[in-house]
Amino acid sequence: MNFKVERVVIVANKEIFMAHLTGHNHPESPQRVEAIENALASAKLMNETILPRQATQEEISLCHDKCYQDEITSQCEKLKAQNIPYKTFDTSNCHEDFVSGDFMISPNTLQTSLYAAGAPLTAIEYILDQKNGTSRAFCIVRPPGHHAHQCTGSGFCVFNNVAIAAKYLTDKLDFKRVLIVDWDAHHGDGTQALVENSGNIFYFSTHKDTSTGFYPGDHWGGTDNQQKFVLNCPISGSKENCRQQILEAFHSQLIPRMEKYQPDFILISCGFDAHENDSLVGLGLKDEDYAEMTKICVEIAKKYAKGRIVSVLEGGYDLKAISDAAKSHVQALY
Ligand SMILES: [Zn+2]
Repeated sequence: MNFKVERVVIVANKEIFMAHLTGHNHPESPQRVEAIENALASAKLMNETILPRQATQEEISLCHDKCYQDEITSQCEKLKAQNIPYKTFDTSNCHEDFVSGDFMISPNTLQTSLYAAGAPLTAIEYILDQKNGTSRAFCIVRPPGHHAHQCTGSGFCVFNNVAIAAKYLTDKLDFKRVLIVDWDAHHGDGTQALVENSGNIFYFSTHKDTSTGFYPGDHWGGTDNQQKFVLNCPISGSKENCRQQILEAFHSQLIPRMEKYQPDFILISCGFDAHENDSLVGLGLKDEDYAEMTKICVEIAKKYAKGRIVSVLEGGYDLKAISDAAKSHVQALY
């Protein structure tokens, strides 16, 4: 009988990922990773857990200019020297003009962000090592990444964790057809900008329609969704309508498109802010919908990518909603 036990590894270290501070009542709080870790542990979904490594400067440079990395380093050092716990990132030296003001840094932000970018790389290396048949991973990291651009962070994001992982797969490990599935409630403007011209990374996103000015808006220079390597599905309407549109996009757009593309590795930008109880956005998704979207990705991965998926936490701000959704997501990765 050809029976293979599927295994899922969790990449986590809450002490590290809670060390990036954003200030009182900020939605992107350190408690997010703690809540998810506790929920997965009590559901016995943390049985195989590994610690992340930091991304190297060379790996960060797959997506971000050196001057931006230097700017983060110098601002973090200044905060440390002046004993300031957190502040808004000073964008006066940034080269890009679409910077969101809501980008907080603290003395440990650089170190934490290097781990957030390194976690998916740790997962990729672990999966490719194939010592125990693990082919899927969930990385419980913060700060999130998908709004980070080449020369600046934005919208709570410092380094683009998933885009760096995608480029690591294509540029360092010679993968030919990486797929990024981004179901965060926001469009991953940074990710699209970083990968859309790569020719070997496909970006699929369901998100709240940005044409009416919803963050990140349309002002960052992105191109339309008719490209060969980008499939954007903007969502609008009532919560129930949004929910139907998101699930429909997975069934009627992602699946047929992937029959042609046939990805060899799948990355998930796993935001939970489309959950019906999210405190910032909320697009009506229920816990079981995260399981359904996950299973679709698993099916695609099993068909074309030897089952390989690395899922990376992005947004999601209600602690109970993200804990419950993360449980559904990880259970469905098995
Ligand atoms: Zn989001």
